[in-house]
Amino acid sequence: MIDIGKQTININCPKCKSKVNINVKHVADQKLVKCICGQGI
Ligand SMILES: [Zn+2]
Repeated sequence: MIDIGKQTININCPKCKSKVNINVKHVADQKLVKCICGQGI
């Protein structure tokens, strides 16, 4: 069984276009994830 709490996805930041690695658990919890540039995703 896969532990989804440790899986990550890559999203392109809408501001600086860099890839942001996000834990899927953060997505499930709808937490605001910040890019290195400070942009919330
Ligand atoms: Zn960014």
